[in-house]
Amino acid sequence: MSFRFHLQATDGAARTGRIETPRGEIRTPAFMPVGTAGTVKAMMPESVAATGADILLGNTYHLMLRPGAERVARLGGLHSFMNWERPILTDSGGFQVMSLAGLRKLTEEGVTFQSHIDGSKHLLSPETSMEIQRQLGSDIVMCFDECPALPADEATVKRSMELSMRWAQRSRDAFGDRPAHALFGIQQGGVTEELRGESAEALTAIGFEGYAIGGLAVGEGQEAMFGVLDYAPGMLPQDKPRYLMGVGKPDDIVGAVKRGVDMMDCVLPSRSGRTGQAWTRRGQVNLRNARHADDPRPLDEACGCPACRNYSRAYLHHVVRAGEMIGGMLLTWHNLHYYQELMAGMRRAIAEGSFEAWEAAFHAGRAEGDIERL
Ligand SMILES: [Zn+2]
Repeated sequence: MSFRFHLQATDGAARTGRIETPRGEIRTPAFMPVGTAGTVKAMMPESVAATGADILLGNTYHLMLRPGAERVARLGGLHSFMNWERPILTDSGGFQVMSLAGLRKLTEEGVTFQSHIDGSKHLLSPETSMEIQRQLGSDIVMCFDECPALPADEATVKRSMELSMRWAQRSRDAFGDRPAHALFGIQQGGVTEELRGESAEALTAIGFEGYAIGGLAVGEGQEAMFGVLDYAPGMLPQDKPRYLMGVGKPDDIVGAVKRGVDMMDCVLPSRSGRTGQAWTRRGQVNLRNARHADDPRPLDEACGCPACRNYSRAYLHHVVRAGEMIGGMLLTWHNLHYYQELMAGMRRAIAEGSFEAWEAAFHAGRAEGDIERL
C-alpha cells in the first residue's frame, strides 16, 4: 500500500480529507503533536493517541545527536523504539541546526555544525538528512532546506529560497523509490508573493507527495503570516496535502485552515502545559493564578479529558504551584485534547459546509473569556 491523499470536501478555501499511509490514516486538517526526542514530553504514547492524534512529529536534529539515527535503526526504527505505531513525520533538521547548534557553517553542500550536547562535529545536507530520516523510519520525510530568520532583505530571502530549491532536487534524488513513504517539498520565499510563486513552481516541477509552507512562524506576526497564507496555499497543487510548519496558537491554526492548510505542528500545547498554561474554548487559563486555589470546578466542564473529568481547578493549581509532575502531565493532556477537538470540529464544519458559523462560534467563545471567579 502506498501513500495517498483524498480530498473529501472544501468550504471556501478550507479543506478536509484524509491521507492514507501503511501505518494508518491521517484525518485532515491534522494537528501533529511534537515528539522532539522520541517522546511527547509528559505523555505516554497511548495517551497521545487517546487525545485523537493520528500522527506525531519527530525532530531529526535531536534524534541524530541523541540517541543517534543508526542506533534507532538497529533497534527497529523510531516507531517501535518509542512505542508509536501510527504515522510519524520527521523534519529535516535544517531549521533546528540554525536555531540550536553551536559553531556552524553553511555552504552549497550543506551545514556543518557542532552538537549543542557534546560539541561533536556533524554535516547535515540533503543527502545525509534523507539517510537519517530513512534510518529513523519516518513515514513523511521533509526536504532539507534553509530558512533565513525574518526580517531579512529580499535579496537574502531570494538567495536562500533558490538554495533550498536546489536542495529540494537533491533531496528528491537522494530519497529514492520508496512508495510506502512520502517526501514533502518546502516552499520558501519569506513574505514576498513573487518569491513564493517561484518556489512553488520549482517544487511542483520536481514533484512531491506533499508540500509544506516553510519560513513562517519565525517572528513575522499573525497578520503577516495570514497575508502570505492568503495566496501561498493556492500556489501549491490542489490534490496534495499542504503542511504549515511550526504553527501555532489556536487562532493561528483556525486562520491557517480557513486559508487552505491541511497539516500543522507546534510545541505550544505540550510546552505551555508544563508551565501551568491551559488552552480552552474560552481562551488561555493560567493555573498558577491564585484565583483557582479554592475553586472546586473543572478547568472546562465540557472537556472530556482526564484533567477536566477527574480533577478540580484547585488541585491543578496546587500541583502546578508545587512543581509536581502530574501538573505538567494533566495540562499537557488537556491541551493536546483541546487541540485535537479543535481539528475535529473544523473537519466536521468543513464537511457540512458550515465553517464560517463554526469560526464565529470559536471566536465568540474566546471573546467571552474564562468563567467568572467564585
Ligand atoms: Zn480538559
